[in-house]
Parts: sequence; structure tokens; C-alpha cells
Amino acid sequence: MYVFIDISQTTEYGLKLNQEEKPEEDKKMSYKIGLCYGDAIGPEITKATEVMCRAGAEKVGLDIEWPVFPMGWEGINDYGNPVPDITIEGLKGCDAWIFGPHDSAAYPKEFFERANPSGTMRHVFDLYSNQRPAKVYPGVKEEKIKVSKDSDIVVFRENSEGSLPDRNMYRGWGEFMPNEDLVISMSVFSRKATERLAHEAFKCAMKRKKHLTIVHKANVIQWAYGFFRSVIKEVGEKYYPEVRIDDFHIDAATAHLVRHMQDFDVIITTNLFGDILSDLAGELTGSLGLGPGINTNDHQCMAQAAHGSAPDIAGRNIANPTGLMLSACMMFDWLSTNRDEPKFAEAARIMEKAVLDTLAAGEVTPDMGGTESTSGFADRIKERIEKA
Ligand code: NAD
Repeated sequence: MYVFIDISQTTEYGLKLNQEEKPEEDKKMSYKIGLCYGDAIGPEITKATEVMCRAGAEKVGLDIEWPVFPMGWEGINDYGNPVPDITIEGLKGCDAWIFGPHDSAAYPKEFFERANPSGTMRHVFDLYSNQRPAKVYPGVKEEKIKVSKDSDIVVFRENSEGSLPDRNMYRGWGEFMPNEDLVISMSVFSRKATERLAHEAFKCAMKRKKHLTIVHKANVIQWAYGFFRSVIKEVGEKYYPEVRIDDFHIDAATAHLVRHMQDFDVIITTNLFGDILSDLAGELTGSLGLGPGINTNDHQCMAQAAHGSAPDIAGRNIANPTGLMLSACMMFDWLSTNRDEPKFAEAARIMEKAVLDTLAAGEVTPDMGGTESTSGFADRIKERIEKA
């Protein structure tokens, strides 16, 4: 059985994607994974990630097409928009895509004041679940690691509403200024968005330690966060009774994470808290710059590293592509489950092992104390994949 994506119905601000079941004999045999290079180090690390993915796909016999779509300065210069229609329309036909970082802080004022490309993608494609793991990776210097080396957590961040004004409205912007001395900012919490994220987080918890922690602020923001917490608990008790659920206020959660991250496994939290907590977790494991992530809706997956476009080192072939490469491994795992294709998981394991072995061997880029170039790092990984 495979999931059919009907992309014929779209709305101005979002996609309506319909699921249909197809008989086994119609199982899809080829796939399309888009590439959006983005700005500054984006093209360097995205091309390095493509090298790894092509090698992984070839190793297991996956047939994948890799179309490239403009994003960032390329979109602004050629189409007057950092995420032009040609990119949106092209990605609608993809199973997944790799999204390089953008230098949105440097965009002209008219673009800077809009949603940045990440926010646009999350909103237009309704990529409601942002999954961000944090653990201690090989090759990270001892002095940078602030938690137990056993730490290995996954943060599920609600990605479509909450307190982020660029995506929490169907139309318009979730904050406004009645006068120059007053800002009103809206937060949005819906049952639909909370339930669908809860299912993603519980499914992940079922595959791991069957322990899920809800992070909220229900002691003060009682209706919104109390609602968020109770909806997640309802989903857990009804569908995933084997999963142990606990919860923390965000302020206590940050302290507990610093003191004993190893006691957490899967964390589910709101858009704003998830943004902060996942960066904290990445930094505590000494590897914010290596942090991977995926953004998903029911049918599509966007792989995106946690870091930005690093304009200070762009064009020198020294950027570290690890975060984006590990994001692509997560994307392959997601495709394996969502498209019911075990070859994706097989490739993900081979690619991930090649990345971790390369880190462990010290064949790393200058930010990790090595002398390897971005493309050289990708070549080392490709060699390991070919030998696997
Ligand atoms: P940044 O993450 O780009 O850079 C912070 C520091 O980390 C810099 O010293 C940089 O050289 C280093 N760094 C980051 N990624 C690296 C990598 N892969 N390899 C080696 N070193 C790396 O953050 P910033 O400087 O605050 O932002 C730069 C631009 O990126 C801004 O325009 C910002 O808006 C944008 N940004 C984009 C995203 C995204 O695309 N998802 C996320 C955050 C920031």
C-alpha cells in the first residue's frame, strides 16, 4: 500500500493534500527529492549532502530524481521573491526536499519584513511537525560537551501556529501595532495542530524508550498551555497507553535539561519553546552546528539543518555539512515509513554510519578542529558508502 499525493487542490495560503490508497502493484518505484541550495554556505553544504544521498541511493538501488529549485538570493534576483512560485510549484511534485540555509537577515527591507523562506515553507506546505534530535556526536571536542555523553533526545516542536506571527494566521500576520508605542501579538493553539503533532511524537516515543515529556507553561498561561498539555495527554491515553508521560514547565525544563539531559527521551512542546529548547539541547551536547532536523506534513518532508547560512565563511569550501547530511538521513528514514520503502531506511543507516565514522576518524572541517574541506568531507563519506 502506498500513499498517493493529490496536489491538484491548492489554496492561496496552504495545500490541501488528499490521501488515496493504491493497490500494491501500483507501488511507486521512483522518487523525486528537490534541492534548494539557499544562500552563503547553502550551495556548498547542499551539494555535499547531495553527493552523500546519491551514493546512498545508488548503494541500495533507489531510483531518485534530484531537481533543483531557486531559493534565497537566487529567487530574489531572478524572480523577485526568495521563494518564487516556480519553487513552490516544483516542490509540490516532490516526495521530499533538502533546504539549504538562507541569509534572510541580509535581504532587502521588503523581503526581510516578510516571513523568511523557512517560515514560508512551513506555512505554505503546512509542515506542522519539526523533529530535532540532540545527542553527542563523535569528533566533538570534550570541552564543548556540557551534559552526560549518554544524552540522546528528540524534540518535537509544533511548527504551524503558537506564538510565531509569520504562520499562525490563515491570512495576515499574527501581530500588529495600534500605535507606535503598542504591540499586540497573538498566540494560537488548536486541537488539530496539537493532536497531529502529538501523534508524531508518540509514534517516535513508541520506537524509542516509550517516554514522552510535555514542556509547557500551564501554571501561568493556563488556557493555552493547559489546553496544549491536556490534548497531548488525551492522545497518549487513548492511542499510546504504553508511553509514560510526564510534563515540565518550560523554566524548570531548561534547568533539568542542563542538569540531567540523559533522563529525557522524547520532548513535545510548542513552536516558540521548541525553537529555544532544541537550540539549548544542541549546544549542551556540544553540537548546535551539527544539529539536524526535519519538517513534515502528512506526505512530504523537508530536511533542514539547525544552523544558519554562515556568511562569514561562505565560498571557502570549509563549511561543515554534517547537520544537513544528518537531516537528509532523517528524511530518508521518514520516507521509508511514509512511502513504505525499506530501501530508504537501509540507505539512511549506511549514510549515517559513513558520516559518524568520518567524524570519528577526525576527517573533519576546520570548525571541528580538522583540515578537511566541505567537498573533501563529502568525498570521504562517499568512499565509505561505496565500501559499505
Ligand atoms: P549562523 O548559524 O549562520 O552562524 C553562526 C556561527 O556558526 C558563524 O560563526 C558561522 O560561521 C558558524 N557556522 C554555522 N553553520 C556552520 C557550518 N555548517 N559550518 C561551519 N560553521 C558554521 O547564524 P547567524 O550568523 O546568526 O546567521 C547568519 C544568517 O543565517 C542570517 O541571515 C540568519 O537570518 C540566517 N539563518 C538562517 C537559518 C536557516 O536557514 N534555517 C537559521 C538561522 C539563521
